[in-house]
Amino acid sequence: MSALREWVTLLGDRATDDTGPHTQNLTEFRAREIVAVLRPKSVSEIREIVAIAVKHRTPLYPISTGKNWGLGSRMPVQDGCAIVDLGQMNQILEINHELGYAVIEPGVTQRQLADALVDSPVMLNVTGSGEHTSVVGNALERGIGVLGQRVRELRGVEAVLANGELIRTGLWTFDVSTPQWHHYPEGSGPDIMGLFVQSGFGIVTKAVIGLHLRQPVQLALVRSSSDDLPQHIDEFRRLRQLQLLRDRIEISTNDDPRLAGFGSRAMDAWMTWLALFGDEPMVTLVKDQLSKSFSDITYYSPDDELPEPAQTRLRKLMGEPGDEYVHAMAGRAVDSGTDFALDDDPAATGFVCVLPAVPFTGQCVHDAISIVRKIDAKLGVQSILTFNSLGTTGLEGFFRVPLDRTDKSAIERTHKWAKQAQEQLAQGGFRPLRASIDNMYYDSGHLEMVLKLRQTIDPRGIIAPGRYLPN
Ligand SMILES: Cc1cc2nc3c(=O)[nH]c(=O)nc-3n(C[C@H](O)[C@H](O)[C@H](O)COP(=O)(O)OP(=O)(O)OC[C@H]3O[C@@H](n4cnc5c(N)ncnc54)[C@H](O)[C@@H]3O)c2cc1C
Repeated sequence: MSALREWVTLLGDRATDDTGPHTQNLTEFRAREIVAVLRPKSVSEIREIVAIAVKHRTPLYPISTGKNWGLGSRMPVQDGCAIVDLGQMNQILEINHELGYAVIEPGVTQRQLADALVDSPVMLNVTGSGEHTSVVGNALERGIGVLGQRVRELRGVEAVLANGELIRTGLWTFDVSTPQWHHYPEGSGPDIMGLFVQSGFGIVTKAVIGLHLRQPVQLALVRSSSDDLPQHIDEFRRLRQLQLLRDRIEISTNDDPRLAGFGSRAMDAWMTWLALFGDEPMVTLVKDQLSKSFSDITYYSPDDELPEPAQTRLRKLMGEPGDEYVHAMAGRAVDSGTDFALDDDPAATGFVCVLPAVPFTGQCVHDAISIVRKIDAKLGVQSILTFNSLGTTGLEGFFRVPLDRTDKSAIERTHKWAKQAQEQLAQGGFRPLRASIDNMYYDSGHLEMVLKLRQTIDPRGIIAPGRYLPN
């Protein structure tokens, strides 16, 4: 019997070779050859799927909700994989308000978890992506929310390995005789949780996600000219290190579609949104300091009548996901909950992106911008640039070029831009913190050791071959 026949016997109509829609992607990457789409509903089904895959040497590519937009959407890195779509495993298994965590399955979306937390003291760190994207998928891709990196909120994962074994990390072992409070994710000895992030070490079937205490928040907007920017960046870092500012600090060129119709002033080449958390006396103190540091600054409180960009940012900082940025990017209203949202709509603007990790210094930001602007000039494109703070030391560069998906030469040009930008930024010391399936990045630092581990756990390269690790 073929692998597909065995999967159909196991899953019925939840296994299919109708894979066409899964190859549509808003970045217009080459359609990968996908042999099947499998939609398990339980861990035991996943273990059987893996056993069949190993028997037939057919690789698997797990996705949670498959909205990895800009990096490949649902598609695997390599041809010949079966997609394991975990969207139907979407249970919230536990919420702990006191210690601030939720135990969830991969199909749980930002909307689902945010709704389950309404009127509770804790909230989710939401991303700018659609409200129907997966919390677990995003964390496993090292995605970034408005309160910082999701991966830092991972307190445990449960995963099926390629040998069929089911494991849990840290204190979250199979020892059910002690209560599992998820208060100390590392456990004792080597911590293996990181192995399941940006890798093919296993199919993650559950995760423990840290939540944040709700608190009042206001916004400040600092405008900078290109000349002022490096000095302003150094000041943002100093204030971040002093804990007067917290994540997110969001620094964007003013042609960002998420700022449409906002601020066409002569000097406002860059806009920086700062989140000011805490009650009024605390915020007044921070405002005093900011007003000393920056000459062009505006404050926004939730009690005021607010312009749209400030409203959206405040909602997200208060744990409310939404599709606003998806609409802004696509140039049309698209519901992120519909099947193949964005990907199957060639009239929606697409984008290609590169995401370098940039040290949080004015000089490094200046250097990264110079690299990208040279490529822009050479290829005749205008990239939109954003830097988001990642704690006190780093920034996520979110550099992208909008894409007319009906224009073949534009597609070619923007793909070329992404390749050159990622390569030249990496050569300049700004390595990617996430990579697309067309420009997958293999870090040579500790690759040999990781490949030895992979060889032990998954010698046939069954799970997500080529994803951040070469075969
Ligand atoms: C307008 C717009 C704004 C965006 N804003 C943000 C943002 O603010 N922050 C951000 O991080 N991203 C952002 N994105 C990018 C992207 O949409 C999100 O990262 C999204 O959450 C990823 O899709 P997903 O949640 O469906 O994850 P998936 O696509 O399901 O997962 C991502 C990858 O992780 C791996 N994976 C997923 N599930 C598993 C599993 N269970 N086991 C093993 N491996 C797995 C797979 O390789 C998969 O390709 C944005 C995109 C757009 C279009």
